[in-house]
Amino acid sequence: MWWDKPLDTLSASEWESLCDGCGKCCLHKIQDEYSGDVWLTAVACEFLDPDCVRCREYPRRAEVQPACMIITPTAFPGILPALPNTCAYRLRWENKPLPVWHPLLHGGKQTQMTRCGHSVRDRVIGIEKMQDPEDEDEWEALIIPEWSDNGS
Ligand code: SF4
Ligand code: SF4
Repeated sequence: MWWDKPLDTLSASEWESLCDGCGKCCLHKIQDEYSGDVWLTAVACEFLDPDCVRCREYPRRAEVQPACMIITPTAFPGILPALPNTCAYRLRWENKPLPVWHPLLHGGKQTQMTRCGHSVRDRVIGIEKMQDPEDEDEWEALIIPEWSDNGS
């Protein structure tokens, strides 16, 4: 299938279709200053629409959100630590198969992905819901280990 091809040979539409729409890359991350480990938290970027799990500013994302990860073939391998361990771009760059729940394997439907717990829908909050965004302990309590590279 086309998604088995190397990332840098995908067409623009294939590249966009490879994204599963999980939304995990749009979560705030925290990094251990000693180990360098990156952890995903349950706090979403302000531009992520929580209902459809799409970026409200996708064409302008680099402009409006300096922390946004712009994923391109040339962003590898440097971008790897910040990508969730299920990210389709990450898996294909590592020459691994897509997960069995990936929408491309289910006629474009996200039902299996959601059922298997890989969509941020209904699992994350906006930063305005935090009690104190300056509180490191609160951020640590919001880590989702199973979605982080350092998790399961
Ligand atoms: S983590 Fe990867 S597959 Fe999931 S939405 Fe982000 S870019 Fe797409
Ligand atoms: S600006 Fe970037 S991180 Fe924020 S929702 Fe859009 S794509 Fe995700």
